[in-house]
Amino acid sequence: MFDGRFPTILLFGAPGAGKGTQGAILGHIPGFYHLACGDVFRSLNINSPEGREIYHYSSRGELVPDELTVRVWKKALHGQIAISRYKPPDEFLILDGIPRNQHQAKIVADLINVQHVIHLVCANVDAMVDRIKRRAIRENRVDDANEEVIRNRFEVYQAESEPVINYYPKEIVSQIDAMQSPAEVLKEILSILVPLQNQWLAGLPDDPLPA
Ligand code: ADP
Repeated sequence: MFDGRFPTILLFGAPGAGKGTQGAILGHIPGFYHLACGDVFRSLNINSPEGREIYHYSSRGELVPDELTVRVWKKALHGQIAISRYKPPDEFLILDGIPRNQHQAKIVADLINVQHVIHLVCANVDAMVDRIKRRAIRENRVDDANEEVIRNRFEVYQAESEPVINYYPKEIVSQIDAMQSPAEVLKEILSILVPLQNQWLAGLPDDPLPA
């Protein structure tokens, strides 16, 4: 039921687990809109006060303070709605990178109605560090540039982000093996999201047909 909050799917997993890859593919499917918090941050002007402050944290692999994170993310989300790139309530919002700790989960709860959490699980840290290093070259990312920063991001993930999973009821959390090929991971995600999308759309009032 639409209650004014955005129907949302959370993509969850350690750095390098493939949230961005899956989010980008899903975002191309009609009915889904993908917004990655890291992409929002990277799109800011580094010379703006917000951009500079965020860079200070992200370049060290540390979490950006919650108040600043949510403020900037919310502004970006409302911007996407204003230009009709994201069209609630018909479209599912696919979030990746937020909420990243339990406090953020509480703050955004009045904005998003979490339908499902996709947890991309990978026990092999070395494999993920490898993926991240390859991405660093491809995307020229400062936070992926050295091994120490990458390891720090894993520690931050385990200490602060992983507990976010416990914030949501177990019935809406699915674990997916992130070491499968991107196509296999996508197949599993779609097997969960397609029925949810159908169910959601069936509950919305009918669109009036254009005259
Ligand atoms: P990855 O997907 O590899 O974990 P992201 O692109 O999501 O990386 O994030 C890059 C950096 O941006 C993080 O290491 C962190 O410093 C900052 N960041 C992104 N999202 C958040 C958030 N929700 N809260 C705090 N910091 C964030």
